[in-house]
Amino acid sequence: MIEFSAAEREEFSAQLALRNAELVAEIETKLAQAKTERVAPDAVSVTDGGDKALLEAASGLNLAIVRRDVEELRAIEAAQARLAEGTFGSCTDCGEAIACDRLRAHPAAIRCAACQNEFERRSGGIHGAKL
Ligand SMILES: [Zn+2]
Repeated sequence: MIEFSAAEREEFSAQLALRNAELVAEIETKLAQAKTERVAPDAVSVTDGGDKALLEAASGLNLAIVRRDVEELRAIEAAQARLAEGTFGSCTDCGEAIACDRLRAHPAAIRCAACQNEFERRSGGIHGAKL
């Protein structure tokens, strides 16, 4: 188990809470936008097909962003739970301590840098999936 000082725990806790609030606000805004776009048929009917497709693509894009935000929110909440139960900061793969710098940059990180690289290499990464 990784021991953090009270100050460090507080720092991570505050960082996670802030990001959590940001994500919730962003998700609510994006969902409200997507709803508005969908319940505005008048705006769609006066435009030509090309604009309509563009509007739909914009909604789809918003929803893709919302999905990504929800995933990040889940990761943040999981990190907050780990912080509460005292397992925060240890790599889920090798059990080693995740570097403090890495946690400061990504408080929701569940793997150390080495295991994350290995994980991304094995899963093919986002770039590999594009091809
Ligand atoms: Zn590891």
